[in-house]
Amino acid sequence: MSYVFHRMPKKSLPAAVAGDGIEIIDSTGKRYIDASGGAAVSCLGHSHRRVVEAIERQARQLAYAHTSFFTTQVAEALAEQLVSTAPSGIGHAYFVSGGSEAMEAALKLARQYFVEIGQPQRKHFIARRQSYHGNTLGALAIGGNAWRREPFLPLLIDAHHVSPCYVYRDRLAGESDEAYAQRLADELESKILELGGDTVAAFVAETVVGATMGAVPPVAGYFRKIRAVCDKYGVLLILDEVMCGMGRTGRLYACEEEGVTPDLLTIAKGLGAGYQPIGATLASDRIYDAIVDGSGFFQHGHTYMGHATACAAALEVQRVIDEDNLLANVQARGEQLRAALRARLGDDAHIGDIRGRGLFVGVELVRDRTSKAPFEPQRKLNAAIKQEAMTRGLMVYPMGGTIDGKLGDHVLLAPPFICTPSDIERIVERLGDAIDAALVSTGALAASAS
Ligand code: PLP
Repeated sequence: MSYVFHRMPKKSLPAAVAGDGIEIIDSTGKRYIDASGGAAVSCLGHSHRRVVEAIERQARQLAYAHTSFFTTQVAEALAEQLVSTAPSGIGHAYFVSGGSEAMEAALKLARQYFVEIGQPQRKHFIARRQSYHGNTLGALAIGGNAWRREPFLPLLIDAHHVSPCYVYRDRLAGESDEAYAQRLADELESKILELGGDTVAAFVAETVVGATMGAVPPVAGYFRKIRAVCDKYGVLLILDEVMCGMGRTGRLYACEEEGVTPDLLTIAKGLGAGYQPIGATLASDRIYDAIVDGSGFFQHGHTYMGHATACAAALEVQRVIDEDNLLANVQARGEQLRAALRARLGDDAHIGDIRGRGLFVGVELVRDRTSKAPFEPQRKLNAAIKQEAMTRGLMVYPMGGTIDGKLGDHVLLAPPFICTPSDIERIVERLGDAIDAALVSTGALAASAS
């Protein structure tokens, strides 16, 4: 009997009692390698001494001061650190408590920006199918994750969706990356024109798609073309790096690799690395100046925004990543992880695609490799893989609905940046065994053979 209102009340969960580097330990003493960082959160693993001490120092000195009365040194220092490492043009950080709050702030900032500059007719948001931007009503409305949206549809504001950039399934045979990116940019342009060029406020996208599709990076040049379309029609570009940002792809900001600067950039998860709940909306000078020179304030706010203890944790996380040169490790271990997955699973008839960037990796499962046909969703293959992995002391983040919200299965991996080469080997070995076992226990293997 539990008094906690759990996510899935009928499911019985082990109790986590301690963390030790890349592992979580449950109340029976069993250890689990956290190969997904929870949901791409715990980038420094668990119980990191420096971060724990920074939190303790800040809590002793000052845990919290309401942001309508005070600023704090630690929030100022964190903002400076983030802005100084962000793509040029990003000038300010608005601190909140998580990813959905960061997205809500981004949507409202975009809207208020247009009100401030005398374009109040801009009210439409365009995002992509098969994306996730959070579970609060605004973020859920913008997101293109069909099953998450469905029960709440009557409550959601209008949002418009175009195709994701999904090479494995959607690039046509013989189509170059360039031509594919152009086709998608043309689709966005048509959508903007359909809605009325001067009525669209922003285009929203995850730089590298996370949980919904399983670490899907864009093709080269895609975001440059998207940026050009946005600029042509005065539409803002909002990049959601709640999951893929803060070093996960081997760059602090995933969009660095795309060569574009968004107008608004959201981060969370890896920002506080799970040590404190914190997110941020980073704003370009253009947006910030319009608000400051206009009404003078952003009409938004939360009680816990800019929380001093959360900022102290995030600041220490950023220092550790920098001083321990962890981005280089993310790149090296990411290459190793993809190569090891290809070696272990690459010849498996049910592994369709192994993809990702840095330590953000996706494995997509298929019933048939040639046709790329997925398994029947009723088999719940992704859930079985999660369970088999937990049995083997491995945390991964599988999900279904990879293709359209209903069909498809994938596994998302997001191990801590501190992983060693032997950690990667252990992760691949356990995951390989878990996938093999799940294909058998769900009957998927037998069904595909018959
Ligand atoms: N945006 C993306 C890309 C995410 O992956 C998530 C969470 O998984 C969110 C937003 C929402 O973040 P949170 O769960 O912290 O509210």
